[in-house]
Amino acid sequence: MNRFEWVDATSVNQALAAVTSDSMFKAGGVDLLDLMKDDIAGPKRLVNIRNIQGLNEIREDEQGLHIGPLITLTQIEEHPIIQKKYTAISDAAGRVATPQIRNMATIGGNLAQRPRCWYFRSEDFQCRKKGGKHCFAQDGENDYHAIFDNRTCAIVHPSGLAVPLVALNARLEITSPKAKREVRLEEFFISPEQDVMRENILQPDELITGITVPATDARTAYYKQGEKESFDWPIADVAVALTMQGSRCTKAGIVLGAAAPYPYRAKAAEAQLSNAVINEDTARKAARQAVAGATPLANNSYKIPIFEAIVRRTILRAAGVSAEGVAA
Ligand SMILES: Cc1cc2nc3c(=O)[nH]c(=O)nc-3n(C[C@H](O)[C@H](O)[C@H](O)COP(=O)(O)OP(=O)(O)OC[C@H]3O[C@@H](n4cnc5c(N)ncnc54)[C@H](O)[C@@H]3O)c2cc1C
Repeated sequence: MNRFEWVDATSVNQALAAVTSDSMFKAGGVDLLDLMKDDIAGPKRLVNIRNIQGLNEIREDEQGLHIGPLITLTQIEEHPIIQKKYTAISDAAGRVATPQIRNMATIGGNLAQRPRCWYFRSEDFQCRKKGGKHCFAQDGENDYHAIFDNRTCAIVHPSGLAVPLVALNARLEITSPKAKREVRLEEFFISPEQDVMRENILQPDELITGITVPATDARTAYYKQGEKESFDWPIADVAVALTMQGSRCTKAGIVLGAAAPYPYRAKAAEAQLSNAVINEDTARKAARQAVAGATPLANNSYKIPIFEAIVRRTILRAAGVSAEGVAA
């Protein structure tokens, strides 16, 4: 690991004033310190944002739910309003890693963490993400890689929180020394075709200063399928948000994680459920649509039936319908 300078910021202005071209922000440090130890990141200055007041609050008003970027995953998991009204978000937070990691990890850092592709994380492989010319996953060990949009770079986006947040149309407030802007979370993440070297639009001098989930009465559910019951990232996960009128769905949000280099909105599945009565049959058809057009690599076509199963079950769970079609 390179030597680096440490700056403690206690306000957004201090943090932004401390930014240089080769500095990085540190929140919980869970991902950043791994990247530094693996020589993937080598900032000359670390700006510690962990103690900034005002970025660590959760509140709800008529506009929706506001989550400060320094809120930890444990705080999200345990928050009574999030548990009750934005269930998919608290469930996703509670399924990340271990209690110790959830106590340290912040939601801002979770959204901006870098991918876990073993070729990207290994110093022995100069992959496209590190300026190389090759994606080693294409003809290598690609069991955990993307099944959509995987030709340039086959990473899957690692953030579990992004999956329900995109399903619920969350927005981010991003602040730089010059300006403040608001973006839809869906547009925050970018594809390898847009820029293979990064996974989001954040510039080095930009700080995520707020996350807003627009007010909603959608019923939500999240499901994470691991390879086994452990602290690891999912092999497939899904969030579903359904706006219901009785048993009929008027609007659906369905987002797959661990499927593409960004949280993957299953638009055809969403359309399938629009104005449909939710039952085993419609959920099954939507689940089939969710994986239509997948382009799996040599070792990961096993993900397709897994996604089909978990999308179907999660739709039914969000709607409160059991597999037999009765209200659960
Ligand atoms: C064993 C293990 C299992 C894991 N399993 C999962 C899992 O299943 N699902 C999952 O989602 N994650 C998982 N994680 C990842 C973990 O959730 C993330 O590393 C963590 O959330 C990062 O948050 P942090 O606050 O520590 O970020 P940091 O490590 O401090 O920062 C990460 C990145 O975000 C940037 N950053 C942080 N905050 C801001 C901000 N406010 N504005 C701009 N940039 C910012 C930093 O500069 C850095 O580039 C796992 C980690 C481990 C070690």
